[in-house]
Amino acid sequence: MLHEIAPKQYHVEFAKKQPGDDAVCFVFKGPEILEKMVDDVLLPPTYGEIKEKVQKYIYLFAIDDTEYYLADLKEEDIPEGYGWWIVRNAPEHRAQDQHFAEYTAYQLYVWYRDNQFCGRCGTHTEADGSLRMLRCPKCGNMIFPRITPAIMVAVTHEDKILVTRYKGRAYKGYAMIAGFNEIGETAEETVRREVLEEVGLHVSEVKYYKSQPWGIDGNLMLGYFAKLDGSSEIDLDRQELAQAAWLSRDELGEDTIRYQYSLAGDLVDAFRRGEHE
Ligand SMILES: [Zn+2]
Repeated sequence: MLHEIAPKQYHVEFAKKQPGDDAVCFVFKGPEILEKMVDDVLLPPTYGEIKEKVQKYIYLFAIDDTEYYLADLKEEDIPEGYGWWIVRNAPEHRAQDQHFAEYTAYQLYVWYRDNQFCGRCGTHTEADGSLRMLRCPKCGNMIFPRITPAIMVAVTHEDKILVTRYKGRAYKGYAMIAGFNEIGETAEETVRREVLEEVGLHVSEVKYYKSQPWGIDGNLMLGYFAKLDGSSEIDLDRQELAQAAWLSRDELGEDTIRYQYSLAGDLVDAFRRGEHE
């Protein structure tokens, strides 16, 4: 999965730091990031390249000894060769650790961008010096990064697994049933509700598998296996899904779930190996 970057290690501990010249600077503009293509690889600028022009910066995290910062740069100060690239696209042009770093940085960028003002009293917020937190200097409101839990579930029935296709999305391959936790609901209840809503099926033996941080959408995806309980006849939610089907192990190709970094792909692989039992 995307966050599995071993032997490299992700260090999330917050600190107020000053970038060195070789620190990596992520500059975002909506869904885009400032990068340049060098030998088929997309690279963000280092602090050394933009330090004369940078408006402001904040330390994000490190992977091994590489430190990552969120930085602001005026359009007219963009260095030669750099341009705007969609964060979500072109994973083939990024090393996995950088791809993970960009998705994770994007989540923090969105959080900083959307919490410049206190939601309680409207005052400009300030970054705390010792915690990853924004504080309102007027009313004391403390705002922490928002992580949205969501579930993904592989529903199995004998030697078959349920796959779906979403409507109106760029990704046309198969997916698993997924959805956000609602307030007041356990993750296991979300699993049962989402399966019922999306395909009209009942499940039992809801079993936690593993989780995946997914910064580009601000999620923590919680992966589950569940067994069909009752009729296997699918009643599709046509607003959300284009298709749902039971596939046997033999019908699962290597590319059934195409995106190599996803929890969905991992669930299918675990099913293929019989690890869900
Ligand atoms: Zn306030």
